[in-house]
Amino acid sequence: MIKAVYPGSFDPPTLGHVNILQRISPIFEKIIVAVAVNPAKTPLFSVEERIYMMKEIAKNFNNVEVDHFSGLLVEYVKKIGAKVVIRGLRELSDFEFEFRMALANRSLAPEIETMFLMTDPAYSFVSSSVVKEIKALGGDISKYVPDVVLEVWKRKK
Ligand code: ADP
Repeated sequence: MIKAVYPGSFDPPTLGHVNILQRISPIFEKIIVAVAVNPAKTPLFSVEERIYMMKEIAKNFNNVEVDHFSGLLVEYVKKIGAKVVIRGLRELSDFEFEFRMALANRSLAPEIETMFLMTDPAYSFVSSSVVKEIKALGGDISKYVPDVVLEVWKRKK
C-alpha cells in the first residue's frame, strides 16, 4: 500500500489544494494531509481551525486523512510509514523553493520520494496568501475556497 503525505500550511485551504487532492486520491491507496505546525510562522488560522477545515474537505474522499506535524517533514513521513511526499507547483518561484526542499529532504531520507503536480491552470494564481489579501481588501473569495473556509472565517469575527 503506497501512502502519500500532502504537507502544507493550509492557512486557509483553497480550491487549489482541493484540486491536488482530487487528482492524487485515485493514484494512492492512502493520503495523509499533514498540517504544518510551525512555531516560527504566525498563521491566520490556528492549527485546530486548519485541521478542522481540512477534515471537512477530506470527507469528500474515501482515502484522505488529516493529521498535523511539527519538526522535520521526513521524520514525520518515516514515522507514519509513508513513501511519497506530494507538492504542487504553480509558478517558477514555487519551483526554486520546492527544488531546494526536495533535495534537502532527499539528502536526509533518500528512501522518500517527492512528487510534484503541476497546478491546474484554473487555479494557477490561487494561493492562501492571495485569498487572504483579497479578503482583507473586502473582495469575494467564494470562488477560490471551499464553503467550510467561508464558514470558519465568518465565525472568526
Ligand atoms: P506551504 O506553506 O507548505 O507551501 P501551502 O498550504 O501554501 O503550504 O501549500 C501546500 C502545497 O499545496 C504546496 O506544495 C503548494 O505548492 C500546493 N498548492 C497550493 N496552492 C496550489 C494551487 N493553486 N495549485 C497547485 N498546488 C498548490
